[in-house]
Amino acid sequence: MARAIHLDNVTKEFRTGSTTHVAVDDVSLEIPEGSFATFVGPSGCGKTTTLRMIAGLETPTSGTIRFGDTDVTDLPPQRRNVAMVFQSIALYPHMSVRENIGYGLKIHGVDRADRNERIEEAAETLRITDQLDKMPAELSGGQQQRVALGGAFVQDPDVLLLDEPMSDLDAKLKAELRVEVQRLHQEMDATVVYVTHDQTEAMTMSDYVVLLEDGHLAQFDPPMTLFDRPSSSYVASFIGTPATNTLACTVERTSDAPDAAGTSGTDGECVVVGHGFRLPVGDALSAHVGERVTLGIRPQYIHPDGGAYSLDVEVEVVEPLGTEAVIHGRTAEGDRLDVVTDSHAVERFAPGETFRAGFDRTDVFVFGPDGETLLF
Ligand code: ATP
Repeated sequence: MARAIHLDNVTKEFRTGSTTHVAVDDVSLEIPEGSFATFVGPSGCGKTTTLRMIAGLETPTSGTIRFGDTDVTDLPPQRRNVAMVFQSIALYPHMSVRENIGYGLKIHGVDRADRNERIEEAAETLRITDQLDKMPAELSGGQQQRVALGGAFVQDPDVLLLDEPMSDLDAKLKAELRVEVQRLHQEMDATVVYVTHDQTEAMTMSDYVVLLEDGHLAQFDPPMTLFDRPSSSYVASFIGTPATNTLACTVERTSDAPDAAGTSGTDGECVVVGHGFRLPVGDALSAHVGERVTLGIRPQYIHPDGGAYSLDVEVEVVEPLGTEAVIHGRTAEGDRLDVVTDSHAVERFAPGETFRAGFDRTDVFVFGPDGETLLF
C-alpha cells in the first residue's frame, strides 16, 4: 500500500580521512502517498544519496525518515517494502525474461501459479508479453530496462525508487519509457521516487519536483510551480530550456532619475533599470532602491519584434530546432540573451545584426544579489 514519505531534517555527511563532506544538508519534505516525486539537480547535489537513504542503503547522520507513521530511519532495506531500479540494467543473463521478472518473488517463496499471474500482469503493463521467453541478450536496452521495471512491479512495493533508469537509452527510447513508467505508476499502489539529471523527465512525469542545490532543498513543488514561481534565481536558471535569461539591473526611484518621456512609471515609483529599458514595478522594491538586482526572463517570453519594454540584442548564433528556433544573442551591456522564436528566424536574423527584443512586465522575475526572489 502506497505510503507518504517524510524526511525530517535529514543530513548525510561522508567522512574521508580528516575531511567531512555534507552530501545532504538538513532536508525536510513530505511526498504524499501514491504520488510521483522526482529529484533533480546538477551532478553531486545529493539526489542519489537521498534516494539511498529512503531505500535504507545509507543511514542519515541526523534526522528521521518515516513511511506514513512508521519511522524507518534504522530499518534495513528488506523491512521497508521498497523496490529499486538503477541506471545500469541488472538482469541475470542466464535467466529468461520471465525468470528475471519473477526472481524476487521466487526468493520470497511465492508459488509458481501466483508468480506467473503477476509476471503476466507486469508484462502486459510494460508491453513485453511477447518477450517473456527470450533471454536478456536478445533484447534492446529499452526492453531490458522494462524487464527490470517489471521485476520491481511484481514485488508490489509501498515505495518504488528509480535512479536514472533511462540515462543509458537514446532519446526515442527515453520518450517511450517515460510513458511506460507513468503507466506503471498508475497501475501500482506505490509512492514513486525518481532521480534524474533530465529536467524534461522531471517536468513531464512528476506530481512533485524536488530540486536540490549542493545538498540543500532549493524547491519542492509541483512542476509548473517551479516554472512559474521559482523560489530563487538558481531554480529559474535550472528549470526551462534554454535557461532563463538573467540581466544585471539596478533599482531606482523615478523621482531620482526622471524618465525623459515620462512614460516609465509615476513619480516616486520604483523602476528596474538596465540594458536601455526602465521597468516600473510600483512600490514592490522600495526596500532595494540603489541595489543591484537580476531580472530573469524566460527565452520563450521575449519577442523578437519588440514589446511593451524593449532592449537591443546583437545576434551571435541562430539555432534552428525544427518547429522553433533559438536566437543566442547579447545585450549592449554584455549579458547573454536567448530568444525562442519560430523556425523562420534562421532567415530573418543573421549573426552580427542587432534587433529590438521586447517583453511584458508580467513575464519577469526579479532576484536579489544572493539569488532570492524579490518579485515575480
Ligand atoms: P549524480 O547526478 O552525479 O549521481 P547526485 O546528485 O546523485 O550526483 P550524490 O551521488 O548523492 O549526488 O553525491 C552527493 C555528494 O556526496 C557528492 O559530492 C559525492 O561525491 C558525495 N558522496 C556520495 N557518496 C559518497 C561516499 N560513499 N563517500 C564519500 N562521498 C560521497
